[in-house]
Amino acid sequence: MLAFSRLWIWRYIRDKLPWYYEVAINRKPAKYLIATRIPVNEKITELGEGELWREFERALKDFLELWHRVRNNEVDIRNMPKASPSLLDLVTEITRRMIRHCEFCEWHCRVDRMGNKRLGVCMLDSTSRVSTYFHHLGEELPLRGVMGSGTIFFTSCNFRCAFCQNADISRDRFNGVVMNPRQIASAAVILRLEGVHNINWVGGEPTPHLHNIVEAIRLIARDGIKVLDELSDEEYNAVLSVKADFIPYNFSRDWAFYGNELNVPMLWNSNFYMTVDVMKLLRVIVDIHIPDFKFYSDKCAFRISRVPRYFEIVSRNHKLVYDWGEDMIIRHLVMPGHVEDDSKPLLKWIADNMPGVLVNIMDQYRPENETDPNSPRFNPEFRELARRPSREELMEVYRYARDLGLNFELISFEKKIDIRYLGDEDSLIERINDT
Ligand code: SF4
Repeated sequence: MLAFSRLWIWRYIRDKLPWYYEVAINRKPAKYLIATRIPVNEKITELGEGELWREFERALKDFLELWHRVRNNEVDIRNMPKASPSLLDLVTEITRRMIRHCEFCEWHCRVDRMGNKRLGVCMLDSTSRVSTYFHHLGEELPLRGVMGSGTIFFTSCNFRCAFCQNADISRDRFNGVVMNPRQIASAAVILRLEGVHNINWVGGEPTPHLHNIVEAIRLIARDGIKVLDELSDEEYNAVLSVKADFIPYNFSRDWAFYGNELNVPMLWNSNFYMTVDVMKLLRVIVDIHIPDFKFYSDKCAFRISRVPRYFEIVSRNHKLVYDWGEDMIIRHLVMPGHVEDDSKPLLKWIADNMPGVLVNIMDQYRPENETDPNSPRFNPEFRELARRPSREELMEVYRYARDLGLNFELISFEKKIDIRYLGDEDSLIERINDT
């Protein structure tokens, strides 16, 4: 953890990700541990869904107050007993009920995913498949740190992006191993014991898997490393079968504990198409959000990703997280031919509505899937997306973002800059221009 806390980038952005940083180095407990200290009505399994939500709204106030006090070092939850049932149990119970009429995301399919008679847009019943999990060394520096981001990839998605780089799992819901919540929890615990700085819930899209993720987090909070002991040999082998690290990592308690409890920041890596109800539930368990923000034009979003009302929904959720004062890094992927319709107005909206937020303006778009002219899936409808963005397009977006005063340069360019020269120039863009 020492190497992580000494990373050069923290000198510049620690004040933007204060909560995540403190949890990552185990100086503070993750939110899910705080939620275990909030008592709720003992009869949650008997309450109706409306009553559960009223209980949640009440307990959320207690949670936010306790979180505030933890942040200000006014209280140490290690001295507080765990509640039974707790707010974390309540969140789990709510997601169990929601799965019977799924409205996790704004498709509002209202299908009973336990009943298996009808499927929603994500094509998922109540089971979750994990395609791989591993120490991700390609995420942004504050996330990958020195030991990687503990990334767990779920199959399927509620979008159908024509250019999806993970189409093998986002379009193929069966392309993974079925994992129950205890197995998912075990994968997360293994990763944290091996030193990852966060658990990165991703896909496809993690939102359709919310019920199993929440249940897994509840098990981590309750059982810690004992979740591994409770697995059958068959379950354990299934967990190991999708671990995709080539390097063997050692286990160490030094990386993973707050007091006696397993501690790790939870990272929600999502397209941000969730309902407001789900946003509220995530507020209790997510320590840092990494949302995608791709389109300003709903026309483009519908044509390319097949989702309606994109901007209204995704901007609403971004603003919620920002107004709640949560840690976040927004990812914007620059798409060829979409600088004027999407990148520029979207970045302007961020500058106007979320000043100071960290933004990663990503240059790694490449034609894949339906936009790849060499693929049998190529769809000529997406001809404008069949190339990488040009240097001129990228520089145009970078300069526009700089003129807006967006906080994007360090996060966007950290892999390209020579840190010896940090601080020597007004803008890193010109240096990128030279490379
Ligand atoms: S997660 Fe979204 S797409 Fe999937 S069934 Fe639920 S509402 Fe529909």
